[in-house]
Amino acid sequence: MNTNYIKSDLFSKFPEIEHGFGNAHAVWPVDIILMPQKHTNNVVIVDELPVNYIPVADAMLTHVHSVMLGVKTADCLPILLYNPKIRIVGVIHAGWRGLANKVIFNAVEKLCTFYNAREEDTYFAIGPGICKKCYEVSMEVFDSINSIINVKTAFRKTSKNKGLLDLSSIAHKELEAAGIPGANISNINMCTKCSKGFHSHRAGSKERQVSYIKIL
Ligand SMILES: [Zn+2]
Repeated sequence: MNTNYIKSDLFSKFPEIEHGFGNAHAVWPVDIILMPQKHTNNVVIVDELPVNYIPVADAMLTHVHSVMLGVKTADCLPILLYNPKIRIVGVIHAGWRGLANKVIFNAVEKLCTFYNAREEDTYFAIGPGICKKCYEVSMEVFDSINSIINVKTAFRKTSKNKGLLDLSSIAHKELEAAGIPGANISNINMCTKCSKGFHSHRAGSKERQVSYIKIL
């Protein structure tokens, strides 16, 4: 992997996994497993190689070594997860629709029910996505997330019908509401729109960058 993949300091402490958040120049790994992302709350368990078919989903989990799980984004948040106790990795695609659809809650629930993982043993890294200065949304968008979880502190109204939304702060809130300790959550804090070198849907890009994680 090259320098076009940004590393999380938190995840770099674990030598048994490999991960990265790609920028626009990152070459997509040939063996990456991608899901047909549709802003759903579907979570898929990938339990063997080769992987022939992945249904529509916005989160994936695996315990299988060498399976490289990937997530494509261009303003939405790529979120990686790792549980070192039972060696499970996962990816989550979280834009406002995914956050409103509870994709984070579903991923944590599946991790705990299917794999018997404990929330306090699981680590999350939130990757580059659109920042709170760049992401203007309608009141309808705010209302649909705020009906799931109180996100008033992650929204700053700019006009009668619009405001600026802080996606990564909402993801952080949802992770904590799902039982993940705040100390287990790290954030890359890079914006796909106002930092250079990323594909940004809002900035007019039609392409996406890829992020990945795998157990070695
Ligand atoms: Zn920005």
